[in-house]
Amino acid sequence: MKKHDPIHANHRVQRDYPAKAKFCPLCGAAMESRLLMPENAARKVCTRCGFVLFPGPKLVAGCFVIDTERVLLIRRGIEPAVGKWTFPGGYVDFGENAADTALRETHEEVGMRVALGPLLGVFNDAAITVVVYLATPGKEPPSLTVEATEVRYFGPSDIPWHDLAFPTTTDAVTAWVALVRGSNTSS
Ligand SMILES: [Zn+2]
Repeated sequence: MKKHDPIHANHRVQRDYPAKAKFCPLCGAAMESRLLMPENAARKVCTRCGFVLFPGPKLVAGCFVIDTERVLLIRRGIEPAVGKWTFPGGYVDFGENAADTALRETHEEVGMRVALGPLLGVFNDAAITVVVYLATPGKEPPSLTVEATEVRYFGPSDIPWHDLAFPTTTDAVTAWVALVRGSNTSS
């Protein structure tokens, strides 16, 4: 591997953050655990410049693209959870708006320029918070990419529950199925 070759993220080492973060990202000095006021919580603080590490969950945004009461799912082509089903989405970049992320990731992963609808919900696990929008397809059909090796619309009764990628995927699909079934009973 040459110094300037592009790389992929090593997800095993990413999971060591923030527990194993030892040095200040600003000045490189050691961090130590200090009681931070007024929140009265232990935080890692730089011993030289005073930078405080506030490790929040990673923010993810994505789309439930809906066509005639079916949701577009993609089979993941990359780790983590390669081969499992999820919806188009990805990390919100620093300074980026979550709605813009959902649109950008959907275009990058399945080649679709969708229109965002209302929020489906916000779903959490220990390390990530996922913002999921309902969306309607534009004129492009979904296409395959390295990130999406298969794309399919699923109705509420044919969801591949045992092959969903992440707990937050299951939570979001569960919320969508409840929404569809609820709106069908009331209509
Ligand atoms: Zn520092």
